Amino acid sequence: MSEGGRPVVCPVWCRGCGPNDPMHRGFLATVGRERTGWVSLQLLVDRFVRREAAIKLDATRYGATRAVLLSPGQVDRLIEELTQARRLMRAPVGRSGPAGEER
Ligand SMILES: [Zn+2]
Repeated sequence: MSEGGRPVVCPVWCRGCGPNDPMHRGFLATVGRERTGWVSLQLLVDRFVRREAAIKLDATRYGATRAVLLSPGQVDRLIEELTQARRLMRAPVGRSGPAGEER
């Protein structure tokens, strides 16, 4: 397709866009489970480069979905926070206070 005289070339990861969808969409991934809800993400890039690329995060629970668009800076921040949280999550579970503090 061509618009404004400039052909729009899809990146290889684009899963489909078109005249009615101004965004290239790709990297669709879903994390989570039916019962607890899930988060899906996709990469959005404006076909005409009018806006900066964004990651769209959808959180779904009990059939209700909320979407959040994250800028590249926010994606960095999120990954940083997740990395920190994962480190703590994987650390041995136990009291972090001084020894002998138990009861
Ligand atoms: Zn595309």
